Amino acid sequence: MAKKRVLILGGGFGGIYVAKTLEKLRTDRDEFEIALINKDNYFVYQPMLAEIISGHVGMFDTISPLRSLLRKSDVIVREVESIDLVNKRVITSPGFKPVRAEYPYDYLVLALGNVTDFRGLTGLTQHALRFKYLSDALMLRNHVIRTLEEAAVETNPKLKQALLTFVVAGGGWSGVECVAEMNDFVRKVARKYRNVDPKQVRMVLLQSDTRILREMDESLALAAQQVMTRNGIEIRLETRLAAATGDEAVLSSGERIPSKTLVSTVPGSPNPVIEALDLPKGVGRGGKSNHRIKVNRELQVEGSDHIWALGDCAQIPDPEDSTGEKFCPPTAQHAVREGELCAKNIVATMRGEPKKQFGFTGLGQMGVFGHHSAVAQLKMGSMKVNIKGYLAWLMWRAVYLMKLPGWDRRVRTLTAWITASYLPTDTVQLTMRPQAGIVQEHYEPGQYVFDQGDLGDRLFIIIKGRAEVMKTENRLTKKLAELEPGQFFGEMALLREGMTTRMAAVRAVEPLDVLSVPRQDITALVDYIPALRDNFDHVMKERDRQNLGVPPARQQAPIQQTDSEDTVYIKR
Ligand SMILES: Cc1cc2nc3c(=O)[nH]c(=O)nc-3n(C[C@H](O)[C@H](O)[C@H](O)COP(=O)(O)OP(=O)(O)OC[C@H]3O[C@@H](n4cnc5c(N)ncnc54)[C@H](O)[C@@H]3O)c2cc1C
Repeated sequence: MAKKRVLILGGGFGGIYVAKTLEKLRTDRDEFEIALINKDNYFVYQPMLAEIISGHVGMFDTISPLRSLLRKSDVIVREVESIDLVNKRVITSPGFKPVRAEYPYDYLVLALGNVTDFRGLTGLTQHALRFKYLSDALMLRNHVIRTLEEAAVETNPKLKQALLTFVVAGGGWSGVECVAEMNDFVRKVARKYRNVDPKQVRMVLLQSDTRILREMDESLALAAQQVMTRNGIEIRLETRLAAATGDEAVLSSGERIPSKTLVSTVPGSPNPVIEALDLPKGVGRGGKSNHRIKVNRELQVEGSDHIWALGDCAQIPDPEDSTGEKFCPPTAQHAVREGELCAKNIVATMRGEPKKQFGFTGLGQMGVFGHHSAVAQLKMGSMKVNIKGYLAWLMWRAVYLMKLPGWDRRVRTLTAWITASYLPTDTVQLTMRPQAGIVQEHYEPGQYVFDQGDLGDRLFIIIKGRAEVMKTENRLTKKLAELEPGQFFGEMALLREGMTTRMAAVRAVEPLDVLSVPRQDITALVDYIPALRDNFDHVMKERDRQNLGVPPARQQAPIQQTDSEDTVYIKR
């Protein structure tokens, strides 16, 4: 008889504890095999992610290879694209070979967590940094070091201040831990840069609520706020981030904070794979679907006998609530217990034994907020015990160290903590390859896409909003044209022979979204597509005629005011 296959989707807290428990429960009598699909080949211990920013732990200390955690399961490193519930198959993205792969299942476990989604938030996709995955923490650390390096050589005082201003949006645990670690790190290493004054460092936390850490008791949250303020963090309460550009954070009040570092820790959004599934979903605020899979107290998807869901992508009834209106919070401590119970119930189903209900109600919460300070709220039966300060910080370290999966990771982390206390903080900046290809950018009204005299490195195509072309000559600035969606600009300094700098400036008239195409990409296209070359030549001739991009030889000729209505820009 063919073995039944339990297919687990997601190698986070929920997924790995399902697989680990199934491995333990499997006996020779049990005719089932275990497979787990995850897009990375490692498990990330998210509660310690913030420590990577400051370098208190190394980049690989708190992650564990899935294959060493799960020795008796098939680990498949692929991205899940969709699930065919009718034919019981999971479809994954192609690997090196451009062919999709399909994996059949008998029992399916959904543990895909949630995702960071900046859709609908102006400019965030283009300019905000995320903080959820290992790559986010690494990118953030690298970016922070880069801003310090830039600040050290910057002579423009305004730009220098923007480089030394760091903004984090979101006053939940992720935002608080992220800003606190960044604050400790930047203030400590800024002293190493001879041309950087540590007093110029500005660290801002934006929180839409009246206080940070809504999930904690007010007294603990206020204690955390006080310590963070004392440590130099500016906490802006009842303040929302409205938009982002490459140069500033735009607040709901209209205030703009010039900054080159903006991190957004918006609450997790539904995983698109889960969102697309035709399974019962929970209901969130305002009666709308929250796209979390609705399960019963045994973690089984309502109306199904072979699909289970847990962790951040599931809506699990709160064991202490009889009204059916409260649900388990999306935390690692819950996901781990849900994983263990889910595995037991799957095996019970196969063996025809009774299943158990989820009864875990949480152990409390703890988190760090810099300078060896933390708060902890422990649940002891019906009592709550609040601890703060250095003792809470020691407890945080002890508890999280013991919870790290695998002895090797615990030893690595402990060693990293000890060495970080005695050795100088590392400021090595990894030089990553610049983002290749076409990217989207956002500009707020009045902001320059490029200035006259800038080096031409990109071509821009307007997706949304309007921009104006401005030319300054003999101290007189004139508007030459106004551009609208579908039009492009910036090609002159890229394609005109002998010209490398911008002959005019372009700035946003209204919120502007553009496609930004690097020089090498556009020149490659033009080289290989003669019709495109002809098209560009035609546009450049037209712009010459209207004096919108005069060649160097004619720069001294008196400039004529061009009527923007008459300006011909080729529509794409
Ligand atoms: C910065 C941060 C700090 C946190 N700190 C704490 C804390 O201190 N204490 C606490 O209790 N909780 C904490 N949490 C919350 C906790 O990490 C989550 O509740 C927990 O990880 C949920 O587990 P999960 O298995 O549901 O999802 P995850 O752990 O997110 O796992 C989901 C997995 O699915 C994979 N995946 C997603 N989509 C696909 C796809 N299409 N194809 C293949 N694989 C996919 C992901 O790569 C990931 O490995 C923190 C979260 C963050 C982001």
